[in-house]
Amino acid sequence: MATFSVRFLGCKVSHSDAHAVREALLRDGHEERSGGEIAVVNTCCVTNEAVRKSRQAARRAARAHRRVYVTGCAANLERAFDGLPENVTVVSRRAEQTAAFVAGDVGAIGCVQADARLDRVRAFVRVQDGCSFSCRFCVIPLVRGASRSRSADAVLREVGKRVEQGHREVVLTGINLGCFRDRERGYDLARLVREAGATPGLERLRLSSIEVNHVNDELVRALRDTPAVSRHLHVPLQSGDDRVLTAMGRRYTAATYLRRLEPLTDFNVTADVIVGFPVEDEQAFEQTRRMLRAAGVSKVHVFPYSPRPGTATAAQDPVPASVKKRRSARLRADSHEACLRRWRSKVGGKDEVLVDRPGRGYGDDYSPWLVDESAPIGELVSVRAVDVADEGIVGAV
Ligand code: SF4
Repeated sequence: MATFSVRFLGCKVSHSDAHAVREALLRDGHEERSGGEIAVVNTCCVTNEAVRKSRQAARRAARAHRRVYVTGCAANLERAFDGLPENVTVVSRRAEQTAAFVAGDVGAIGCVQADARLDRVRAFVRVQDGCSFSCRFCVIPLVRGASRSRSADAVLREVGKRVEQGHREVVLTGINLGCFRDRERGYDLARLVREAGATPGLERLRLSSIEVNHVNDELVRALRDTPAVSRHLHVPLQSGDDRVLTAMGRRYTAATYLRRLEPLTDFNVTADVIVGFPVEDEQAFEQTRRMLRAAGVSKVHVFPYSPRPGTATAAQDPVPASVKKRRSARLRADSHEACLRRWRSKVGGKDEVLVDRPGRGYGDDYSPWLVDESAPIGELVSVRAVDVADEGIVGAV
């Protein structure tokens, strides 16, 4: 038996990659322990900064562990980990093959049926991987390949298993979730949502992120009709300016974004935005700020643009770093204001909060709540909103 630890950088898909490796190692009888012999670092390459942090994490792990496996998106980016010590293995493989490869390399020992439940609050269940869109700035299709889906049966089985293990919330996860299809069995994402949401014992179901092109009537109906579905949707915007959207190779206009989200005004919409894309001038940036307000977006994940190798815009980066920094700070401040407005509107009302850390949790629409430190982790608690703090809504039982 070996001892191991797993960490990940980046998004929910990276979390789910890391989870698959942990499960494979636990299934083979290895023991999870911080500072163990083996470290797995599941990496991210969405920006230069993400690659830098991934390299740093791998280097640190190499100093503290006997063997290190570098997995995930950045591991598939050519030469991203050149020059690391010899005890580092870079696993440049498709996500579906990575967990088995690492487990095989570590060496299956015994047949301990470990309880592979790693986060007892929420589980990320992958339904799809890869992307066949071609956003001009994006390296993800190069490192994760074309879109492909798991079978609906496999997804629904995994949702059931997670609920049996005690997870209260399941997040359906994918690189481009709306591309999910099980043609043989006649499933699209809307049908999958309805059936996953009907899993006995499941308290909450969320989608990790969905392209606005995929927010169609059928999906909206499924989200509305399924009681377990959380009133939250993360819909990347990237820019609110049509000229920038076209230059990015995005498949929608600002007007489409607004129109598709119209039937979901009661949902908490969060978004990703890239600032400092090559053709983004001040006017375009201000248009993005207006769009975010018009769409009622609360939390914005801001990504300062950085050219990624192998992409159509790899050689373009004309917006100075200082401008990106200023625009990023402006958007983050707007986002904080929008969150505070949403949270304040809840004061006096009630919600069910899923406690996921001491004194913290998330309400039905994925707004963050501050609750009593003694609130049991992994449980839903009924709370009343009494105030708003910088980090979330203050709840009292
Ligand atoms: S939809 Fe665009 S941004 Fe998202 S993973 Fe695919 S190519 Fe990248």
